[in-house]
Amino acid sequence: MRVYADNAATTKVSRRALEAMMPYYETIYGNPSSLHTYGQEAKEALENARERIAKHLGASPREIYFTSGGTESDNMAIRSAAAMGARKGKKHIVSTAFEHHAVLHTLKKLEKEGFEVTYLDVGSVGTVTAEQVRQAIRPDTALVTVMYANNEIGSILPIAEIGAVCREKGVLFHTDAVQAVGHIPVNVEKEHIDLLSLSGHKFHGPRGTGVMYIRKGIAPLNLMEGGAQERNRRPGTENLPAIMGMAEALDEALEHMEENTRKITAMRDKLIEGLGKIPHSVLNGDPVNRLPGNVSFCFEGIEGEAMLLLLDAEGVCVSSGSACTSGSLDPSHVLLAIGRPHEIAHGSVRLSLCETNTDAEVDHILTVLPAVIDRLRSMSPVWRDLQNGKREFVIKD
Ligand SMILES: *Cc1c(COP(=O)(O)O)cnc(C)c1O
Repeated sequence: MRVYADNAATTKVSRRALEAMMPYYETIYGNPSSLHTYGQEAKEALENARERIAKHLGASPREIYFTSGGTESDNMAIRSAAAMGARKGKKHIVSTAFEHHAVLHTLKKLEKEGFEVTYLDVGSVGTVTAEQVRQAIRPDTALVTVMYANNEIGSILPIAEIGAVCREKGVLFHTDAVQAVGHIPVNVEKEHIDLLSLSGHKFHGPRGTGVMYIRKGIAPLNLMEGGAQERNRRPGTENLPAIMGMAEALDEALEHMEENTRKITAMRDKLIEGLGKIPHSVLNGDPVNRLPGNVSFCFEGIEGEAMLLLLDAEGVCVSSGSACTSGSLDPSHVLLAIGRPHEIAHGSVRLSLCETNTDAEVDHILTVLPAVIDRLRSMSPVWRDLQNGKREFVIKD
């Protein structure tokens, strides 16, 4: 059996999305900027996709900019708000310690350019409150950027409440909603969101396509110079097939959200219950306000990378929280942010499910994963020290 449980990293393109893309490779392949019929048909499709996505978000089509994905949207949104703030002498930004690197690294760059950033503590559960945001806002705050849901530990943040605080204080509010859109309800109007980033490949659309939503009245900042696409703000010939696939995938996700959520949540909870029985294990992230598909654990006395490779050999594809794969030995900044010590953060695993996962797959994981942990612990000198009392357990039972 081969089980794909890494849907937070990327998803399979749905059949419906794929079929929606094909005509834009084979028939309606004109450049939307061209004045002839091929171009105009493409342009019409592009605007149709924009309208559908805007409607799903509670936005108007003019507030939607197509980008190359979540990363670009995060960069463009944060830079747009920062530039707007700087023009008024506001150079302070509020964010959290566990944002995606697309946000964190953009903020680090802005710090070098003279901005000051307050990174809110996310506590042991991995969330922030609207009150924390309120306390952090200053007269010179240009932007609050807080992710909608965390990609590693699955916490869903109180975005509507944070949005209300920002609106009341007159501060721009951006949310990286890459893990939320298509999975849980998101509405920019009701939740007072001024800027939002989403990515097509996290909800069964194609890779390399995303959206930046920017409220009317906020000037989008160009990251690149070029043609007049996207109202002069995001140059480059539109990736129309991918955009059509993203729009279709979002339609599909929203049509089936309720039933998918029910199914995925049941599988998630079965995994959380089963893995929670492993001695010296701890669930990461908010146990209640949690993405339907996210299961994240730390196991004491384990190396996440070794666990990942042994699981892979058993046909189970997951992600480990540590960033060793990216060439650094630093554990995940997210797990450190919720207070896991280094050695515990190294022993983490993230499983992320989608609606095409099955109960049989969940059962397979629940058979294989505890056995892999037993095996790794039996070989581990650290585990031996923990067993004979030379070392104290960090995760108590
Ligand atoms: C995947 C992800 C991104 C990056 O999106 P890409 O489309 O891969 O660039 C940004 N933020 C979060 C929370 C993500 O999960």
